[in-house]
Amino acid sequence: MSKKIFKTVVIFLLVILLLMLGKTLFTHSDDNTLEKQLWKYENAKGFERFSKAIQFQIVGDDEGVNREQNLIELKKFHEWMANAYPTVFSKSAVEVINGGSLLITIAGKEHQNAAMFLAHMDVVPVADVSKWKFPPFKGVIQGDTLWGRGALDDKNVVIALLEAMEMYMKLGLKPRRDIILAFGHDEETGGLDGAAQIAQYLKKTHRSIGFIADEGFGVMDGIVPGLKKPAAIVGLAEKGFATLDLEVNIPGGHSAWPKSENASAVMVEALNKIDNFQFDASINGPIRGLFEQAAPHMNFGYKLLFSNLWLTSPLVKMVLLGKEKTAATIRTTHVTTLIHGGVKENVVPPTVSATINLRVLPGDDIQLLKSQIESVIDDKRVKVKLRPDFHAATPVSPDKGLGYDQIKQSALTIFGDVVVVPGMVITGTDCKNYVGITNRIYRFVPFRFSNENLSGIHGLNEHIERKDFYRAVDFYVDLFNRL
Ligand SMILES: [Zn+2]
Repeated sequence: MSKKIFKTVVIFLLVILLLMLGKTLFTHSDDNTLEKQLWKYENAKGFERFSKAIQFQIVGDDEGVNREQNLIELKKFHEWMANAYPTVFSKSAVEVINGGSLLITIAGKEHQNAAMFLAHMDVVPVADVSKWKFPPFKGVIQGDTLWGRGALDDKNVVIALLEAMEMYMKLGLKPRRDIILAFGHDEETGGLDGAAQIAQYLKKTHRSIGFIADEGFGVMDGIVPGLKKPAAIVGLAEKGFATLDLEVNIPGGHSAWPKSENASAVMVEALNKIDNFQFDASINGPIRGLFEQAAPHMNFGYKLLFSNLWLTSPLVKMVLLGKEKTAATIRTTHVTTLIHGGVKENVVPPTVSATINLRVLPGDDIQLLKSQIESVIDDKRVKVKLRPDFHAATPVSPDKGLGYDQIKQSALTIFGDVVVVPGMVITGTDCKNYVGITNRIYRFVPFRFSNENLSGIHGLNEHIERKDFYRAVDFYVDLFNRL
């Protein structure tokens, strides 16, 4: 290397180092001085009311077997709510949508840009009752823990919203804007009977919605790499969903004299190719925002890494792709979920089919993803069909302004030492049914989630602590007061 080139390289490296140091040193932590807490929720009976709510069995099943029974149970649940929260139910407009969902409108001083809070009353089925510590629909409170299906998904949100609104209204307070509580009844099976009908009703009645808040994230412990403090993650978008059906048709025959070509071998090869392929990863949108906004609160090494994504993103990508949950936040994922073929041990199957499920990153075009999969397979014998129920990722909501700002302030006030950052939900929520109602949809509920309690959601022994429930009620009262 000549002296001149060497000198240029050294100067270039020095400039990069200075730029990195500058950006790191001048990215300060926000001075999150805690605002004085406005109310303290101390009505011990709230937790007992929550326990009662667990006992209404509204269980979503994809075949719709429980549909009629659910509607009967929902009616009872509605009646119970009206008794338990008399102020809310007598002083607001309560509408039953499509026989099961509830739309409760608390009139504000003005009716433009209403604040809308979603929650769902249905739960997922319990796979193995005998493995639960307590029966999942008894609502057992032991010590300060409530055990039951729906304790964290999502009756906690339904009941915390009602507890908070009951107290808020009893205090004689009136919000500036309308507050709408919208409780769906079939979120776990897609929300077509509930949330989608509510959304249509809102459009038909020309309601002006300023923002929507729903489940998706909460105060997450140990989720963001390099961040010691808990992160209050506000989901700005959720990934899309698409399913590809693959089929191979080759005449079968007797297994005693197999041909050199058969449908299962062709399918296995195709699935292998797909399995060895990954869609491109990129750190953009809400995930980029998450790391840039969390960086000031990280220790020096991580701060250096995440404050300089313009330079370090290949390295950060490598780190994030190392774990399946973080990998899913930076690329469209795909996986084989169903395989069928064969009728008998001595018959070569003439048809073999497989199903690939895709979760789509904002910005990715589903037809293009399908063509990519086809070119990876590169075999005309494998037919690929896109199921019609696909939907792209939702639009990305802004990470400032109405809704986001107030949620952020309430999170800092009630949870204290947390970092509020944007994020992206990698599963699905009812929010997808509300696209087009408002461009501000925020996925945050005021509950703490850790690896320990997350395993109860859709799993075994779902439970919640009394203090966590009361803190959520505090959060909503604080938030209603800012709206
Ligand atoms: Zn849920």
